[in-house]
Amino acid sequence: MKKHLHDLTIKGFHEGLLNKEFSAFEIAEGYFDWIAEKDKEVGAYLSLQKDEALKSASEVDVKVASGVEVDVLAGVPLAVKDVVLIEDAPASAGSKILEKYSASYDATVIKKLKEAQAVFLGKTNLDEFAMGSSTENSGYRLVHNPYDLLRVPGGSSGGSAAAVAANMALAALGTDTGGSIRQPAAFCGVVGLKPTYGAVSRHGLIALASSLDQIGPFGKTAEDAAIVFSKIRGSDPFDSTSVEAEEDDLLKPDFERIKKLRVGIPKEYFAGGLSPEVEKGMAEAERRLRSLKLEFEEISLPHTKYALSVYYIILPAEASANLARFDGIRYSRIVSEKEVKSLRDIYFKDRGAGFGAEPRRRILLGTFVLSAGYYDAYYAKAQKVRRLILRDFDEAFKKVDVIFAPTTPTSAFKIGEKTEDPLSMYLSDIFTIPANLAGVPAVSIPVKKYSLADKELPIGLQLIGRHFREADILGLGQYYERL
Ligand code: GLN
Repeated sequence: MKKHLHDLTIKGFHEGLLNKEFSAFEIAEGYFDWIAEKDKEVGAYLSLQKDEALKSASEVDVKVASGVEVDVLAGVPLAVKDVVLIEDAPASAGSKILEKYSASYDATVIKKLKEAQAVFLGKTNLDEFAMGSSTENSGYRLVHNPYDLLRVPGGSSGGSAAAVAANMALAALGTDTGGSIRQPAAFCGVVGLKPTYGAVSRHGLIALASSLDQIGPFGKTAEDAAIVFSKIRGSDPFDSTSVEAEEDDLLKPDFERIKKLRVGIPKEYFAGGLSPEVEKGMAEAERRLRSLKLEFEEISLPHTKYALSVYYIILPAEASANLARFDGIRYSRIVSEKEVKSLRDIYFKDRGAGFGAEPRRRILLGTFVLSAGYYDAYYAKAQKVRRLILRDFDEAFKKVDVIFAPTTPTSAFKIGEKTEDPLSMYLSDIFTIPANLAGVPAVSIPVKKYSLADKELPIGLQLIGRHFREADILGLGQYYERL
């Protein structure tokens, strides 16, 4: 069975299922066996939903046996970042404050995937409340990069990326507020898509920063990411920022069209600061794309240098508001009745015991930049600069269709390397944050096919597209992968 798991893609799984090469049940069981063995060293999962998963896999098998047509995602084993709610499953957000909480309803993305009869293996580890770039901020345990167990998988969706990379799930869901899908995808050698702001409903997502958050897929290939994305996108009455998907060639890329896309290289992203291995990887990616006869043009995104500063004002501001709801009264409580004498006591003790260092830092920062007197100096100004960053992209997309950039300045760093220095940690998102601030879609694609056996550390190539043009970046990704 192990052989199947390691070779599967979503379409391969679907064909095998229809041709009766295996059952959905067998595959799900195979995944759980492999997780039991492998996840001891990786640490990708926080909880498993084995009974429910095997039950839904058998339901798919019954349907297939009776000749009823099933969705391409039917029976597909997925991992879900522990900030997305699945009814009756734990949803800790990687935080001790939600240790005892389980969800009372399904997120819209889960509802859609359940309709397609996807199988949910479990909930994946992450940086607490999705704050971080290494998954070292998890309130529970470390995640190890499957390519080198002494290195981080990236973050904050480190568990989802590592699960797909180590074949402990066929695909996964993550969230990306400043790079949390693309950066771990790059570190773990998988594909990760941050959709356009508004493309996917966030109903049932534990919010970090609501003007930036998006849910998106991880897959082994750009095609797998496109399949999952096509299922979860679209408008939802429960999320007023969500927009209906337009007809496009997402699922059947028109490579004749893709070949003619003009590719922009932003000079600010290549102006030094890339590690030698990333520089080499990017040169290789560029050579490959040029061999496909794609046209390149240098562009400028002049306000890139302000993106990190803007993000670390807007994100903490929104996060401090979003995290106010965790007060020991709603959701769940971690301090016992005996320890509290008053309501104030509950607030203080529960939040005191529940939040780790990074949420505290950001609650403090956010409360500060929103306070009277500082609001105009920091928050209002950051919003104006955010506008300029968006304008940079608007200008660039008058000239080109897709932007070509590194996903990260370095490959996966060592566990512990940056934990003492938050600023150096924040810098690992320097190339991913601008797309969140502008709301444009971006995908990270492995520069080449990496194998866990040869231990070479993966490098991610980032393709950024126009609003709602995921079909361009995923199509180009698939074209690139065909090499
Ligand atoms: N690493 C970034 C941060 O710490 C991004 C987080 C995210 O995208 N959820 O905020």
